[in-house]
Amino acid sequence: SGSRSTGGRAARFVPARQQSTLPAVAAAHLNPVNGFVGAVGNTPLIRINTLCQETGAEIYGKAEFMNPGGSVKDRAALFVVKDAEERGLIRPGGTVVEGTAGNTGIGLAHVCRAKGYKCVIYMPNTQSQEKIDLLRMLGAEVYPVPAVAFDNPQNYNHQAKRHAESLDNAVWTNQFDNTANRRAHIETTGPEIWDQTNGGQLDGFICATGTGGTLAGITHYLKERSQGRVQCWLADPPGSVLHSYIQTKGKLMDRQGGSITEGIGQGRVTDNLKQEVSVLDDSVHVPDEESIAMVYRLLDEEGIYIGASSALNVVAAKKMAERLGKGKTVVTILCDGAYRYQARLFSRKWLESKGLADAIPERLQKYIVL
Ligand code: PMP
Repeated sequence: SGSRSTGGRAARFVPARQQSTLPAVAAAHLNPVNGFVGAVGNTPLIRINTLCQETGAEIYGKAEFMNPGGSVKDRAALFVVKDAEERGLIRPGGTVVEGTAGNTGIGLAHVCRAKGYKCVIYMPNTQSQEKIDLLRMLGAEVYPVPAVAFDNPQNYNHQAKRHAESLDNAVWTNQFDNTANRRAHIETTGPEIWDQTNGGQLDGFICATGTGGTLAGITHYLKERSQGRVQCWLADPPGSVLHSYIQTKGKLMDRQGGSITEGIGQGRVTDNLKQEVSVLDDSVHVPDEESIAMVYRLLDEEGIYIGASSALNVVAAKKMAERLGKGKTVVTILCDGAYRYQARLFSRKWLESKGLADAIPERLQKYIVL
């Protein structure tokens, strides 16, 4: 293909892993990589020390906020673009179109610049101006459109599809139902977690879903590699239907209410989730009060500055660890940093408007600085 970089590791150097006395994960970072796309993935697995102490279990977060575009979605962005190239849906100079409220768009904008494609993003006009500005700074063409339900033809996803169809040499990457998204996690995140836990020495994996790519892909890999031994659970915020779907073994309710946890929560079983949803062992619901408190707690106790979906995942991992028991090992995903949400998450006015100011324990109130 005519793309600028191939995504492989630069092969010119003796693999640092062979010379280094560093642990394998750190050694992986000694090898130079080929451009932005080469820097996607291979993120550290962070032991969350205070929660391990509190539960007597081992709780780890995969530091996806350390991807070069800042989130777990860099992996999916790279894989859906590579998939379009491999299937001949896009040629050099072409256009990638997607409907996304955030991290996927940012990942795609980076990948498109690195590979020389144009990037067009449709998003609901309820999103913050910072997100729109950032995407435009990354070279994307952005269309904020009225926020209407998925079954309305004016929904941002359908508008993205029509835009791609109206252009020559353009692809709608369709992150919700394009299983190249899930494949990113079958081929990269899942194997990394396996290797980072000393060859699959983990008992549980849990995370929330937006498109479902992360949960389904990692579940697919861990279940297959461990012959079903590793427990895989879903974590769900308020306003999402998947927790009740799993608990009722397949009843789909209407969406009710919402959550502060941007990027997660779902009203349907996406194609990315379809195959794995029946394989999941259990699910937990996490209220916003617990997610926001964990944002502050991880900052205070661990120096880890992550967004609300990541904090929800950590709360859920703690619940799973408590249920599996002392000495068990649970892994979750730290999807992105708090930087993209800090004007909200650390603002007293915003917290009060959501009824969440009292969810922050007294000793952590000092972090409400905006
Ligand atoms: N957290 C954040 C902040 C996200 O942007 C997303 C992507 N929508 C997710 C979690 C969920 O990832 P996935 O789409 O793979 O389910």
